Amino acid sequence: MNDNLFHATESVQLEALVSRQQNYYRSGATRSVAFRKEQLHKLRNAVHSFEPELLNALKQDLNKSPLEAYSTEIGIVLKEIRVALRHVRRWSKARRIRTPLSHIGASSRIVPEPLGTSLIIGPWNYPVNLMLVPVVAAIAAGNTLVMKPSEMAPATSRALAGLIGRTFPPEYIAVVEGGAETSAELLKQPFDHFFFTGSPTVGKVVMKAAAEKLIPVTLELGGKSPCIVHKDANLELAAKRIVYGKLTNVGQTCVAPDYLLVHKDVKQELVAGIAKVVEAFYGTEPIQHPAYGKIVNERHFRRLIGYLEDGRIAYGGQFDVEARQIAPTLLEGVSLESKVMKEEIFGPILPVLEYEETEEAIAIVEANPKPLALYVFSGSSGFRNEIVGRIPFGGGCINDTIIHLGTPYLPFGGIGSSGIGSYHGEHGFRAFSHYKGMLKQSNRIDFPFRYPTSKWGMTIIRKLLR
Ligand code: NAD
Repeated sequence: MNDNLFHATESVQLEALVSRQQNYYRSGATRSVAFRKEQLHKLRNAVHSFEPELLNALKQDLNKSPLEAYSTEIGIVLKEIRVALRHVRRWSKARRIRTPLSHIGASSRIVPEPLGTSLIIGPWNYPVNLMLVPVVAAIAAGNTLVMKPSEMAPATSRALAGLIGRTFPPEYIAVVEGGAETSAELLKQPFDHFFFTGSPTVGKVVMKAAAEKLIPVTLELGGKSPCIVHKDANLELAAKRIVYGKLTNVGQTCVAPDYLLVHKDVKQELVAGIAKVVEAFYGTEPIQHPAYGKIVNERHFRRLIGYLEDGRIAYGGQFDVEARQIAPTLLEGVSLESKVMKEEIFGPILPVLEYEETEEAIAIVEANPKPLALYVFSGSSGFRNEIVGRIPFGGGCINDTIIHLGTPYLPFGGIGSSGIGSYHGEHGFRAFSHYKGMLKQSNRIDFPFRYPTSKWGMTIIRKLLR
């Protein structure tokens, strides 16, 4: 048993920690597949035994119900561990690939190797999922790692520190708790990889620190994810799935539908449908419902209340300052220049915009930076293909919202300002690996045509390289 909790933001202590991890990594201890699998088993057992602490912490930090906490956090981590255990041997194998005729006699392999010592920094909104899913990938890929959970979900940060501290020695995996200053100190250390989940603003800070030392980065950021509902959509299902995606964690989800773009012929019907679903899920007073979440802090609560001025409230609009809760709210008549249409909302407020021509919908999405997710509800493959094919975004769903995040087989990540790189399942293994391209030459033959002494060199090379 080890108690490896670090609270120190002192550079020297962090330096010593990173150096210990690098020595442990260089010892080769983390390399074998057997070791990686053993650690994944340990992590799985620890998640099981810490489940009550994690559920309590998520309730305390974000008022998450056990169903939501298990389905969007703990269960996703367990599923990732299961998939990694099943496939890590195959993922880690060197792969033989073709060698061109110009290299006759040689053979080629792609050899995955761990990046080394990684730093994982996480946000507060899915504080278990977004810390432990990258950890699964880092373990599977054979790295050592330092984790920095968000100070804004303090109970979960504590629970994670306990879970990791009692399961792994600090030279292999360590949790450093703290806020922005601690992150800043960590970012000065000579890590081999930064894996950051959070806002585009802090993403830039991480990338700047990485640029100083040319450290590779994976950035999982956010943005405004549109949800487009065409006139031929199944509106009843669309309403249900939009409410599910928007109100999970009361909209504090990086891939939550940020705003609706609805064909004008079906807008009123969809708005009425959404109101009906909200009432079926949470009653006429959602704020009173025990499974309805709260806003993480006062600053975000105030920011969200401010958005209510940016349009006409078509539904909802109530809030409770004491409880930091805002009812599910539909806003109509918002200007594209308003704050609510320029900033990532990250709360239970949903602007509803309408379009008539497909071009208008595309232009509205493209007025903002490339989104992390996009959702399109339509019965027509022509319309869906046009939206998916023409608009750049990280990933998304057709006829659903947010659930693409829950599969370990799809890459999850953004594009441009919504992120760099992706993870989940094998994509996570790749994010924490370097792929060495290795050519093995034969000593039995040595064709002379590449050497300056060859009489026919140019003729042969021209035939081989064209
Ligand atoms: P944040 O960027 O404020 O904080 C994330 C982490 O960075 C925290 O651990 C925090 O301590 C640290 N940090 C804060 N300021 C820092 C600084 N100046 N220097 C170094 N580190 C610093 O993000 P947040 O508020 O925790 O999360 C919300 C944002 O994260 C939203 O934009 C959301 O879209 C995004 N997000 C993205 C994903 C994804 O998977 N792509 C998932 C969840 C959240």
